[in-house]
Amino acid sequence: MSPFRVIGNLYFVGTRPASSHIIDTGDGLIMLDSGYPEDLKHIINSIQVIGFSCQDIKIILHSHGHIDHIGNTRSIVQLSGAKTIIGRLDADYVTGKRDLSFAKELGMEFSQFFTPDVLLEDGATVSLGNTVIRCIHTPGHTEGTMSYFFDVMDNGRDLRVGTHGGVGTNSMEKSFLQRYALPLSLRDDFRAGLDRLKREHVDVFIGNHQDQCNTVDKYKQIMAGNKDAFIDSTAWPEFLLQCENRLDRMLAEENEWERETDR
Ligand SMILES: [Zn+2]
Repeated sequence: MSPFRVIGNLYFVGTRPASSHIIDTGDGLIMLDSGYPEDLKHIINSIQVIGFSCQDIKIILHSHGHIDHIGNTRSIVQLSGAKTIIGRLDADYVTGKRDLSFAKELGMEFSQFFTPDVLLEDGATVSLGNTVIRCIHTPGHTEGTMSYFFDVMDNGRDLRVGTHGGVGTNSMEKSFLQRYALPLSLRDDFRAGLDRLKREHVDVFIGNHQDQCNTVDKYKQIMAGNKDAFIDSTAWPEFLLQCENRLDRMLAEENEWERETDR
């Protein structure tokens, strides 16, 4: 993926498999998720292409502690001295204290562990320069998944950006949860989080994977001249509904499978 301006001072610098974003706060950069380890060079290059330098990154904020979102954090900290921030309950995922980076499930190995500087609680804010990010704890995909909301300025317009920190049902399947001694209640927590996030108004929805918000399609629209491709206040509620439906489907399939195997 080529890097591009999403809207205002918000940029996409990720890859097709995992999204990373940069917020130019006027007082340094905030990076949202650091991508797969194998994509380090691509991401560093993308940051340069949009006119910044890795050294300008002051904060790396993580949606959750899986390899595709934390993979380059240690390397980027070495380049920039950035402060690292993640939801409190995912701390052990990134220090390596618990084997929950999801690397094994993806057939990868991960050793780039780090000690986060700040552990987020529900309702925390992260501030730098002109940007204040509101953090909402939305467990489910991991225990410490955090969703983020902040405003960007675009040509005098104040737009609310929103992102859900983790929606994949793969890590909410009973077999996965039992393998890692994680509580089955994470599925209920996930649903409760969706209900909570439905109350948020979002003008610009950005996913931490490109399929969530059709990043590739919107990138093409922007390249074709529609600079407002990401502004769509219906995208967020539609996405949350899709997430709920996907959870329902997974639970129904699980019940079905259990009935079959009981027989
Ligand atoms: Zn994940």
